[in-house]
Amino acid sequence: MRIVAAKKILKANDQVAAKNRDLLSGAGVCCVNVLGSPGSGKTTFIEALLKHFGGRIRAAVIEGDIAGTIDAERIEALGVPALQINTEGACHLDAPMVAAALRELDLNGVQLLFIENVGNLVCPASFDLGEHLRIVVLSVSEGDDKAVKYPAVFQSAQAVCITKTDLSPYIDFNLSRIMADVRRLNPGASCFQVAALRGEGVPAVAEWLAEHLHTGRSDFGHSGQK
Ligand code: MG
Ligand code: ZN
Repeated sequence: MRIVAAKKILKANDQVAAKNRDLLSGAGVCCVNVLGSPGSGKTTFIEALLKHFGGRIRAAVIEGDIAGTIDAERIEALGVPALQINTEGACHLDAPMVAAALRELDLNGVQLLFIENVGNLVCPASFDLGEHLRIVVLSVSEGDDKAVKYPAVFQSAQAVCITKTDLSPYIDFNLSRIMADVRRLNPGASCFQVAALRGEGVPAVAEWLAEHLHTGRSDFGHSGQK
């Protein structure tokens, strides 16, 4: 019996991810991997940022879903190019899927590329896609214990965005508890609070992203594996 260790699969993934990152950096594209549970508000968060940037920043989006094109259609409705990856059952994106998507996407003039990962707080953390930045999206309705329960995804991110904060009055969500957990797990992470449908908190995230756009082609920090 032949056995392929998970470590080898991840190593092969990381090699493709490094190529993706080189390609994106060379094209002057800052790539952001957005991770979070199903229903955490990833698409709404991306939509809010795209609306905030308007025509000032040229963006594109790769949507990862097990099935369907609902999210890609929402992005296209904003006039932003979108490409859908259907994983047909797989619960995360990997670097080869993104490499295939990048071959289909016209990156000319694109400054900011969002990749919305499959909704999942577990394995997407282990798969470097070749992004420069990772943002974890966690809605208040998911509970303030999630950083303790799913540490890897929070440790691997450059930013953590608490979403749906306008629901806080109706939910027992202790913001200071999760912020303390995130700081303990990942002291360098930037933390934001967003009510994306109302646009609240969106400018601060946009400013943080814009700072990373201006750092020049080869100076992007990248998430990689921790
Ligand atoms: Mg979505
Ligand atoms: Zn998975």
